[in-house]
Amino acid sequence: MMTKLDNPYRILLLGGTSEATSLAQSLADQNGIFTILSLAGRTANPAASPLPVRVGGFGGVDGLTEYLTSENIDLIVDATHPFAARISNNAIAASVAAHVPLLAIERPPWTPAGTDEWSEFDSVDAAIAALPDTPQDVFSGLGRQAINALSAAPQHRYVIRVVDASEPPTNLPHATIVAARGPFRTEDDIELFRKHGISHVLAKNSGGSAAYSKIEAARMLGIKVLMVRRPAIAPRKTVTSVEDALAWIETHHQRRSERGV
Ligand code: NAP
Repeated sequence: MMTKLDNPYRILLLGGTSEATSLAQSLADQNGIFTILSLAGRTANPAASPLPVRVGGFGGVDGLTEYLTSENIDLIVDATHPFAARISNNAIAASVAAHVPLLAIERPPWTPAGTDEWSEFDSVDAAIAALPDTPQDVFSGLGRQAINALSAAPQHRYVIRVVDASEPPTNLPHATIVAARGPFRTEDDIELFRKHGISHVLAKNSGGSAAYSKIEAARMLGIKVLMVRRPAIAPRKTVTSVEDALAWIETHHQRRSERGV
């Protein structure tokens, strides 16, 4: 007789966020569920995972569709970053093509609170272009992929926070790299902003708590925030938390077990 161990419910978890790390911890303990965590491979030392991990792109929609079919995936859980629009849109298209349901964890975006002074932009380039012409002390929380974009305004003294340590690019003569992995604390960001005399904060509207400290620190110090709005992602089934994702997965897993599949 076929048991759950012979025929587990197979989940592809698209990761690269703290939610993915947390969901991976919970799914590792679930009976009858086999989950593989997929990472893009952007960071040199990703957070430890209790699940098997595959690293690197799938080769667009066709590659991901092929992967879903060949690996007999029953469910895709998209726990990628809200700015990782390409993989999220690819996952939606592949889910349709391979007839595999998809669930996304989508953190609600941040909204201005209290004395927040935000200007909002549709792209990283537009936010950088809106910095004053005269040299400023700018904190960039835009991530490593946005470093090249900062060279459009090389006159500023940048403090750039990234996960992996690196030298500042030569075309940014006044830049300092701060290598650190979230979650960050507001008191630490206040100290960092004071130390560097920060006048502007560049941020992506990531949502969630792990990177919110820079927004709170800017509010407390009266610093202007240049906020990049999220990119568009096609309609999909979403939940806003890891707990809700686990409940949804459990229901669907249960239904499949009841159908005896
Ligand atoms: P992206 O622009 O949406 O994706 C570019 C390509 O990278 C995708 O087309 C895919 O290649 C590959 N890819 C992305 N995520 C993948 C995953 N989890 N597993 C396998 N392949 C993946 O993504 P991104 O903005 O470069 O982000 C890359 C990773 O960093 C994501 O896992 C994301 O969660 C994480 N991250 C991003 C940000 C951000 O601000 N963008 C911030 C924090 C963490 P193929 O087309 O070849 O499949």
